[in-house]
Amino acid sequence: MSIKVAVIGAGVVGMSTAVVLQERIHQAEVTVIAEEFLEKTLSYGAGALFRGDASIHHDLKLNETWLQASHTHFSKLANMAEQAAQQKVLTEEEQNANLKNSESLASSILSLKPSSVINSSSQTANDLENLSLHNGNSENASPTEKSAPSIIEETKLKDSNQSIPKLIMETTEADDLANNNSSSTADLNKLNLTSNDSSNSLNVKSSNSRSPSPCRSGSCRSKSPNQNGKELPEHGIRLVHGYHLTEVCENAVGNELMSKLVNDWRSLSIEELAKLTPNIRFKYGYEYSSIIIEPGTYLRYLMAKFHSNKGQLLKRTISFRSINDFDFLHRNFHVVFNCTGLGAKQLMSDHQMVPIRGQTVIVRADWIKSFYTFDSNYIYPRYDGSVVLGGCKQYGNWSQQLNDFDRQAILAKCSQLLPELTEAEVIGEFCGLRPHRAEIRVERERIYSPDKENQHDWLNVIHNYGHGGNGFTYSYGTALHAVKLIDDLVHQCEH
Ligand SMILES: Cc1cc2nc3c(=O)[nH]c(=O)nc-3n(C[C@H](O)[C@H](O)[C@H](O)COP(=O)(O)OP(=O)(O)OC[C@H]3O[C@@H](n4cnc5c(N)ncnc54)[C@H](O)[C@@H]3O)c2cc1C
Repeated sequence: MSIKVAVIGAGVVGMSTAVVLQERIHQAEVTVIAEEFLEKTLSYGAGALFRGDASIHHDLKLNETWLQASHTHFSKLANMAEQAAQQKVLTEEEQNANLKNSESLASSILSLKPSSVINSSSQTANDLENLSLHNGNSENASPTEKSAPSIIEETKLKDSNQSIPKLIMETTEADDLANNNSSSTADLNKLNLTSNDSSNSLNVKSSNSRSPSPCRSGSCRSKSPNQNGKELPEHGIRLVHGYHLTEVCENAVGNELMSKLVNDWRSLSIEELAKLTPNIRFKYGYEYSSIIIEPGTYLRYLMAKFHSNKGQLLKRTISFRSINDFDFLHRNFHVVFNCTGLGAKQLMSDHQMVPIRGQTVIVRADWIKSFYTFDSNYIYPRYDGSVVLGGCKQYGNWSQQLNDFDRQAILAKCSQLLPELTEAEVIGEFCGLRPHRAEIRVERERIYSPDKENQHDWLNVIHNYGHGGNGFTYSYGTALHAVKLIDDLVHQCEH
């Protein structure tokens, strides 16, 4: 039995939901439908530091559950990558040590037994190999150490071949994904689903694709940063140490959620603060380790996973008020996930959705290894030697234009904290609208047909939107929760 699921939205929330669905609900055939993908989504340009926020839901317990689930997920990925990288470094060091040992051993053999060198050259080579084995060098390494380079190779291969699903372009009519199989109703009560294998028929004809609309929730300008040769794990997730500082009051930096989550959360003394940032006298501050996500890399990683799990992509703008769109979803899917970020304002007429405009400046500054968040500004190091400087939080501002004033303010404030930044080359800029809502919305709703004549058809919709400035942080936790709701639906129908 298959469950046909549509996920509307291809930002970090939609793609996480789609992948969690595939991994948790094995009968699910998932199609991601979105107006924009990858670079054109807000998610692609985010700062993407992992950071709990007590204000995202009134239910602190729920907040903690989401945060914990996300943290476990991201830490696991980051730790695995760290271990692989360490093994690689060890192996390189060992290789050098091996070489040195071999050289010194060879010269000592040469100096001790000059007469035997020519005749026993093959013997010497064997001895060297054997000796280096006994010296605890790379050949003597544990199986995991030995296999590290090939893991890296594999990762590289995967990286370069990382494939993402082909986009099925928008069609002009309300197509049936399941070959006009109108019996594929979205009514979950009729979910004694016949196992019709329609995955191939999802390859909808691609006539009259729309020309892409301008980026709806973000705009960016960038020169490609200088790669400094570091390995980035294919998922783009790293552990990073950093500082959370304020000139105002302790509440501005205290973060109970994070202090419970990480084990190195530590308050900084006034002396430590003065030493850390001599140019700005912070009153309070903490240091701790968190996770930084490279947004573009992570989105591509999710896309690749989605693809390998046989997911389909469809470029299309959905309106529940359009009879065409409603019928299209109703005919083709049993459940629809709404992960449209700020788009939910229009889609759901959700007046609680408000943009919070943010702008960042990207500079080349590969000497910065820690993150700093200080009042409304931040400095986030990226793997490639670029650094994201932010930011602003302009509530209710819909402008997606880069703003000179904001740029100057960001550069001035960040350079005050770290004066070397004055010299850093600006290589990019980004501006986007955070999809703010008083509370992140993860819940189920029936959406009835907009056709007044037809009020008995509905869509089973599961919402997952309104992540504001925390979409990367909470993406995995809220995806798990949303997917749990489909589980409940299926159980309800079964009993
Ligand atoms: C400057 C800045 C810095 C940030 N820093 C951080 C940070 O450090 N940590 C953190 O966790 N978060 C951060 N964020 C927040 C984070 O970027 C967002 O919370 C996250 O990207 C929201 O993801 P989303 O998938 O909900 O929305 P989006 O990425 O906007 O995706 C929405 C998707 O829905 C589609 N869509 C919308 N409406 C429709 C429709 N009607 N029909 C079809 N498709 C539709 C869109 O095309 C898109 O594919 C930052 C944001 C900004 C702007």
